[in-house]
Amino acid sequence: MARYRDSVCKQCRREGLKLFLKGDRCTTDKCSFEKRGYPPGQHGLRRTKFSEYGIQLREKQKAKRVYGVLEKQFSLYFKKADRMKGVTGENLLSFLEQRLDNVVYRLGFAPSRNSARQLVRHNHFTVNGKKVNIPSFSVKQGDVVEVKLESQDMKFVNENINKQDLKLVPQWLELDKNKLKGTVQSLPTRDDVSVMIQEQLIVELYSR
Ligand code: SF4
Repeated sequence: MARYRDSVCKQCRREGLKLFLKGDRCTTDKCSFEKRGYPPGQHGLRRTKFSEYGIQLREKQKAKRVYGVLEKQFSLYFKKADRMKGVTGENLLSFLEQRLDNVVYRLGFAPSRNSARQLVRHNHFTVNGKKVNIPSFSVKQGDVVEVKLESQDMKFVNENINKQDLKLVPQWLELDKNKLKGTVQSLPTRDDVSVMIQEQLIVELYSR
């Protein structure tokens, strides 16, 4: 499976903002963006003026990087969102939020989406009692996402969930800390997306 293999911190520096891709490290002074908040590369310190296309492209790249999605899959999400009723940009964000790796992260089982993706790939979660190891698996209303019985003693997961503040769990999800499980109460709407993304720019980019 194709995946991004370069330094993830470069992605924050490229986008000019902290994307919180590395969990706890992002809130410490080890954060690369805090130390070098300019784009990576030889000409990183040069001032760049983006064209309209450049601004739209950066917004799409930002969304892809936050959710850890590569180009092909992102464009499939867009096509699906475009075909659906409603506002295309909002549909797109809703699809991205419904990914299983995102749900595991938003419930607090992992400190970042990257780390949540790894937990899912390593078979630590079930959805409605069945093992699911596909990070892009799309949850539906009423789905129950649970730490697999054999993995419930995992120190990493327990530490994260004990730290999780219930107020930070989005309204469309419900977390049961004791049972290490979360329920999808409803599908996410635009207001449930915590990432600063101007989805309209992405729609404009794909409409060119
Ligand atoms: Fe981005 Fe986190 Fe790396 Fe800082 S530590 S640059 S927020 S991924």
